[in-house]
Amino acid sequence: MSTKQFALPDEQATIELGTSLAGLCSQQTTIYLHGDLGAGKTTFSRGFVRALGHQGNVKSPTYTLVEPYQLDQWQVYHFDLYRLADPEELEFMGIRDYFTPDAICLVEWPEKGTGLLPEADLDITIRYNGEQRIALVAANNQYGISLLDQLELC
Ligand code: ADP
Ligand code: MG
Repeated sequence: MSTKQFALPDEQATIELGTSLAGLCSQQTTIYLHGDLGAGKTTFSRGFVRALGHQGNVKSPTYTLVEPYQLDQWQVYHFDLYRLADPEELEFMGIRDYFTPDAICLVEWPEKGTGLLPEADLDITIRYNGEQRIALVAANNQYGISLLDQLELC
């Protein structure tokens, strides 16, 4: 199966989806996060990086474009490209150097960097459903499918 849908009735469920997925990553991983402002992309990312050992705040790096987290097993880079004016900025920041073998990259607003970002293993789209949210997770390759097969909300 290459897509799965998850009902996210509250913020905690979104955090748990991030937590679950973080625990499954076993190699370099690139995850694109789609959805309107306030959908829950950063909330998902918070669950993800905390599950890998980060204890502090997780804010969207709207102005800095990327926030690095040096964690026990992984280097996680959390991108928010919302304010990227020109994709060339990604070249200036040396975007390729972030996608290293020990790195997991979470990318909010990846459509702003089209053509300059590596392809994603998973695309996660979070949609509003009244006060709640729904996440659609799509796998783009064999590794993504293996993640998706194992992904469950506890
Ligand atoms: P984004 O990064 O997509 O702009 P954030 O994660 O920063 O969004 O913000 C999501 C906001 O929506 C938070 O204020 C959060 O409390 C609220 N919220 C309500 N329901 C949910 C849900 N099911 N999942 C995630 N966030 C939710
Ligand atoms: Mg955000």
